[in-house]
Amino acid sequence: MAGLKWDYHTHTIYSKHHHGKGTVEENVRAAEEKGLKEVAISDHGPSHLMYGLETDRLSRLEEEIRRARQAHPGIRVFLSVEANIINRDGSLDIPPQLWDRFDFVMAGYHYGAFSQSPGHDLWVHARNLFFHTFRTTTKGMRIENTELVLRALYKNDIKILTHPGDKAEIDLVEVARACRERGTWMEINNSHPFLSARGIALAAREDVRFVIGSDAHQPHRVGNYANALARIQASGIDPGLVVNLIG
Ligand SMILES: [Zn+2]
Ligand SMILES: [Zn+2]
Repeated sequence: MAGLKWDYHTHTIYSKHHHGKGTVEENVRAAEEKGLKEVAISDHGPSHLMYGLETDRLSRLEEEIRRARQAHPGIRVFLSVEANIINRDGSLDIPPQLWDRFDFVMAGYHYGAFSQSPGHDLWVHARNLFFHTFRTTTKGMRIENTELVLRALYKNDIKILTHPGDKAEIDLVEVARACRERGTWMEINNSHPFLSARGIALAAREDVRFVIGSDAHQPHRVGNYANALARIQASGIDPGLVVNLIG
């Protein structure tokens, strides 16, 4: 019987516009009740127009993390962030002076995130959204998306690449190679269909490590992993490659 050791991908009300529904305390309590050993709060990076963390609220978030740690000594609580991969120079939307305030940084590509060149970003998002909707892509888009992700991977110490291939098609083999070289875990996201079973199998050939993330936006979804597990089983990989799966 498989089980989940920890969940590093959970959102709270600190994602703007109450994109996440739960408080820090509620997510931590839910994780503890599900028997997880560790949980991370990982709200969206600040450049996301709709859901980004407002950096002036970071001190309050840190205070809530401290309180949750005191109230729940049986579970390790981390403060993370799901930064946005958007800048063409590979930098993330976490300014250097804020970087150390997170225990670790995860990153993913999202529509709705904008850098200093919003015109170009909009053009990239629009084309990805179009191709995503029609379940196809062009070679040019795939190359552009892949380069964006590779630059981010090599420029930053990213612990987890969230939902690779969701929202924007990438060359999974290239990205998996870079993740292996950089020691970045590729996420098997429980709330999004990526990595797909086929993608997991492809990436596993590059000897990369995977991590399951619930991407919970409500406390009761923290620690959920049934969808991710089904894709892992369908992929036929050794479950030992998934760092937070028991047995
Ligand atoms: Zn995401
Ligand atoms: Zn997320």
